[in-house]
Amino acid sequence: MTDFFRHDDIHAPTGPTLHCKGWGQEAALRTLMNNLDPAVGEDPAHLIVYGGRGRAARSWDAYDKIVQSLLTLENDETLLIQSGKPVAVFRTQPAAPRVLIANSHLVPKWATLEEFNRLEALGLTMYGQMTAGSWIYIGSQGIIQGTFETLAALATKHFDGTLAGRVYVSAGLGGMGGAQPLAGKMLDGVALIADVDPAKLERRHRSGYLDVIKSDIADAVAEAWAAKAARRPLSIGVTCHANDLLAYLIREGRVPDVLTDQTAAHDPLVGYIPDGFSVADAARLRQNDPAEYLRRARASIARHVEQLLTLKRRGAVTFDYGNNIRREAYDQGVTDAFDIPGYVPAFIRDLFNQGKGPFRWVALSGDPADIYHMDDLALTLFGDNPLLRRWFDLARRYIPFQGLPARIAYMGQGERDRFAVEVNQWVASGKLRAPVVFGRDHHDTGSVASPYRETERMLDGSDAIADWPLLNAMLNVASGAHWVSIHHGGGTGIGYSLHAGMVVVADGSADSAERLARVLYNDPGIGVVRHADAGYRLAHDTLHAHADRIRTPLIGPVRDAE
Ligand code: NAD
Repeated sequence: MTDFFRHDDIHAPTGPTLHCKGWGQEAALRTLMNNLDPAVGEDPAHLIVYGGRGRAARSWDAYDKIVQSLLTLENDETLLIQSGKPVAVFRTQPAAPRVLIANSHLVPKWATLEEFNRLEALGLTMYGQMTAGSWIYIGSQGIIQGTFETLAALATKHFDGTLAGRVYVSAGLGGMGGAQPLAGKMLDGVALIADVDPAKLERRHRSGYLDVIKSDIADAVAEAWAAKAARRPLSIGVTCHANDLLAYLIREGRVPDVLTDQTAAHDPLVGYIPDGFSVADAARLRQNDPAEYLRRARASIARHVEQLLTLKRRGAVTFDYGNNIRREAYDQGVTDAFDIPGYVPAFIRDLFNQGKGPFRWVALSGDPADIYHMDDLALTLFGDNPLLRRWFDLARRYIPFQGLPARIAYMGQGERDRFAVEVNQWVASGKLRAPVVFGRDHHDTGSVASPYRETERMLDGSDAIADWPLLNAMLNVASGAHWVSIHHGGGTGIGYSLHAGMVVVADGSADSAERLARVLYNDPGIGVVRHADAGYRLAHDTLHAHADRIRTPLIGPVRDAE
């Protein structure tokens, strides 16, 4: 029998038995708990799921009250979460979401990291990142697919579609960054990744994401270049500061083929360790003198970006991987920081134009067999897409499940709903052992405004227009998602992004079938509209193919005509 109120070693219940009054509530309860499973979340003891201090709930008291509320929530009620705290339950209606979440919002003039820190210290808010505070994080595999897609697009653009015989250098082996070594290896490359925290390296090694751990930089670099010469896929983690690895490469005249960074630099107080500090020393300084910590972290970030720029000038294909490191460095006087391109305009936008994004599903049965059945279904439906086929192949081979078994795939407009409705039938027929949850990262086609990441360099200059994620959330409420969230500050940090999430459950019922068909069509649909309005021809083409279901009375013209 699950103890729902324990605070350590949390594991979601599995199987077909309901503990709540409906599967919408039950799914929220299980995925909330799954976010804090020690095999899934980065630091469950502090309710931290990933991405610096991205939390699932504001406090343990708040967590207990969320759990209690979900266990008793009726099928015509809605629970409201204000920055990780369950503030109210209202009578709504059966087709409404069971949970509505707003995390980390500040009025724009007040939306600075300093003000956020002050309010957080007063216990008034919480940082929700993207899927942490909206309860649909699925461990590092969620980002592996994104990293795989990004590196595959990079390899196609620069290296004949493969990273064989190429070295990929980066830093950060946290919740997101931990995907890098495996994704690099899946594309047959050599990944060399620095992290200051030995525990992070060991963790990735244990989960099978990292082949080798080195404590000596020279040794790690020698092994990486030997594997490159032999065109041998390999992932190496090295226990050191990013700046020390980059300084060594510069000194020794070693130029990586591909270069980026995945430290949590978007939050310099928590996510970035200053030069010369161990994790423990950094924790002490952060506690005793946060202003001095920030000063040192920001100076280190400036040096970090200068070193990335040096290696870029020497020929490394260098890109920003969505952690806002360029802006932090720019504010410290690194005026050419934005010579490094962002990965979305460079590699991902064409996917967004087709409504493709990090769609995911979680088997509430807890049984990996359910995921394998759904893999087969996806391949039957969409197996003519070679990248998707390759992804499922590699995912089965390389990706260990963490917590509740889950799968992620970039599916496009009209594909997500089709797949999920079929899955719902399989739940109804008993082919799958229990209901299935469908959700996505907020880092998707229509659900985020983030001028240094998802909406960087939009064709019409609409990078900072933030109406779209709010429309996305309202559309998902209207379409009947089981829970919907709006967040501020995920990915690139406080002041730099607004974004929305949704989750909808396939419990085998006719009601679920209707919700899935509506939500999973409309949710990417608004992304395609957003990109078409900005002028992308490919998005206009996608809309054209869906003109029978999406009408657009007035949107912007094509701006990238060949
Ligand atoms: P995390 O906090 O879980 O991990 C950060 C890691 O960086 C830690 O292991 C830490 O020890 C290490 N680190 C910090 N400073 C370092 C330094 N100077 N040198 C070496 N290692 C250092 O964060 P995460 O969840 O892995 O996210 C990383 C970043 O990626 C965040 O900024 C996040 O917002 C961003 N992100 C990117 C995407 C994407 O799609 N590209 C998606 C989500 C988040």
